[in-house]
Parts: sequence; structure tokens; C-alpha cells
Amino acid sequence: MTVDAASAFKYEKLDAVTPLDRVIFGSADPFALAQRDEETIRLAVVRDAVDFHAARDPSYRRWLTSAAVGVDELQSVKDLDRVPQLPTAIFKRRNSPLVHSAEARPSRSSGTLGTVSAVWRDHTTTQRLLGSVKAGLRLIDSWYEDEVHVVNLGPDRQEAAGLWFAYVMSLLEIVFPTTHCVKADVFDKTATLQKLSNALGAAPSVGVVGPPMLVADLAATALRTRWSCDADRITVVTAGGWKRAVGEALARDEFDDLVCRAFGVSDPYRDVRDAFNQVELNTVLFECRARRKHVPPWVHVTVRDPVALLPVAPESYGLLSYLDASASSYPCFIVGDDIGMLRDGACPCGRIGRTVEILRRVRRDESWGCALKMDSDVVR
Ligand SMILES: [Zn+2]
Repeated sequence: MTVDAASAFKYEKLDAVTPLDRVIFGSADPFALAQRDEETIRLAVVRDAVDFHAARDPSYRRWLTSAAVGVDELQSVKDLDRVPQLPTAIFKRRNSPLVHSAEARPSRSSGTLGTVSAVWRDHTTTQRLLGSVKAGLRLIDSWYEDEVHVVNLGPDRQEAAGLWFAYVMSLLEIVFPTTHCVKADVFDKTATLQKLSNALGAAPSVGVVGPPMLVADLAATALRTRWSCDADRITVVTAGGWKRAVGEALARDEFDDLVCRAFGVSDPYRDVRDAFNQVELNTVLFECRARRKHVPPWVHVTVRDPVALLPVAPESYGLLSYLDASASSYPCFIVGDDIGMLRDGACPCGRIGRTVEILRRVRRDESWGCALKMDSDVVR
């Protein structure tokens, strides 16, 4: 099904009156700010978010109080490391203590531990999530908004409603002309290659978006059937990781090689990118040309020791945790599910800023130690 971006569901910017919405939806590139400006904005919008959630959610307010952190104490971005963060176990509880408004709807995803997270998102929160996707696409040089047709290797929004990553990818139809390729759980590779040919006939460039396993499957089918297209008209954006197909995961250079040969991509650093998200996080992080995932100013990242949860030394590996100011329907202040590293400063892509490297998912024994302790100690 092809959905015209202008029809069906209008992409609706929020009133750009708050500093946060100016950063997310404004015309300035949020990844091109001077370091000092970025830190000033980050401190302001995260402080506002802490204040907002403390006022609306008694459970989070108790947590702030017990951690002896008040908004007045948050005077620099470094102070933000002290803001209490929720273990994702909170979202996996049948009866979460978090407040959610009547209009919010749950986004669900089964996590690494096999349990299901339910994260309540309202309209504003979802619009900002989509805003983070639009902002992140600025990192892809070949993605010109008015010239791209998206081929989504997933279902449309209606069918994707219960599947977090498929849902995030289906949101692209709000912004770009989009063709969805999964119907009733079936991914027909031959039909998808035909849709890809049609999209190439309809637009100067095509964005192929999907989990790496499906992209690799499609690329292998393209090679086998001698499907071909003009060089350098396709940009591939993967998201969601290999999940259950982890045993079949290709190394990055093997994946690049396959995709380049199948889809006529000459420079994988320009046209093969990955994006990161977990259901509890309201921002999608995209890779730049140097394959580093840039963090926008509305997200503060702290890398913590998995046991003590204290911040680790700069450029050390630890548990990635986030203060994401973009969620209004729940406090998106979370200890994440991944081990990784934060870098700050000049990126080889030419931008100055923070980037994260995702190393791997947390193992069961690592996460339960800290998450359950925090859960039972503080949140009632
Ligand atoms: Zn970069």
C-alpha cells in the first residue's frame, strides 16, 4: 500500500513554543550546535522535564525526594547524572506505579529477558518520537526529504500496532511516501523487489528501512534473481538489531558487501546506516557517516557501572542510561538494556557532539542485580 504523506494522517508539529519543541521541530540542525549551546539547551530541557514529571507523577516525585535531588541542584549537565532513573523492570510490571493519562496508549515490546514492556505514550510523546526520527535523518547525507520514497520492510501502522520496532518504522509513512512490505505477517521477497523497482520509478532516491535480517534476506534474493537498479539510488537504514536471528547475524563488513552488491550502493558509509532505540526510550539514535550514533540535545546519556550504578570514567564501557526530555506521558529517565560507551567531542564525520557506541545487550545476571534492587527499594 502506498500512503501519500499529505493524506491519511497529517504530520502535525506541536506548537513550537517550548524550548524543547523548538529544538526537536525547529529548522536548526540539532546535531550542529556549538558545544556550549548544546549543553545549555540540554540542561534546560532536561531540568524542565524533571520538574514536569515530579509535578505530575507522585511515584517519580517520591523517588526524587528519596534521592535528595531537586531541580535547583541541577546547575550543570554533569549534575544531570544524579537524576534518579527508572529500571526498565518498572515497565514490565503488570501494575506499573507510573501515572499515565487516559489518552495514552501502550507501546509494547518483549525485551531481552523475555518479558513484555508496556510504555504509555500520548499524542505529544509520539509526535516527538517521530520528530527525533526526522531530526536523526539529517545525519544521512543522501536522504533529501522531498526526494525519498521509503520502502519499509515491515507492516503498515495498523498491522504494526503491537510490535514496537515495526511501529516506529511504520511512522515514516507520516512524513514520506511509503510502501509497506509485510502483510499478515508475510514478507514476500519477490513482491518486495517489485515494490522496490516501482519506488525507484516514482522517486529520485529510495530509502529501504528494516531490521538487518530482512534487509539481508532481500539483498540475497536480489542477487540470486539478478534484480538490478541504477547505482547509488538506494539508502539502507537498519533498525532493531538481529534479535532472534542473532545466530545468523552477519559481521558489519559482510552485511555492507552484500547490500552494496545487491542494491548498487558504492559507498556503504554514506548509504548503509543503523539506528538504535529500545521501547522505553522516546528517541531514535541514528548513525552518522562515521557510523557513530549521535545523541540529540534533548537526551542526556550517563554510562554507569552495572553494579554500583555510579558514572564510569569518560570513554569507558558501562550500562547506558538516559534522561530523555521528549516524553510527556511518562518519565523517560531510564537505565537502559545495553552496555556501551559515550564519546564527547569531535566526530570523524565533522560534527562536534556526543555519540554512543552500543556494544551488546545486558545479560540476565547483570541487569537483575541493579534493576530489581532499585525497583524494590524505592518505587512503591
Ligand atoms: Zn559523527
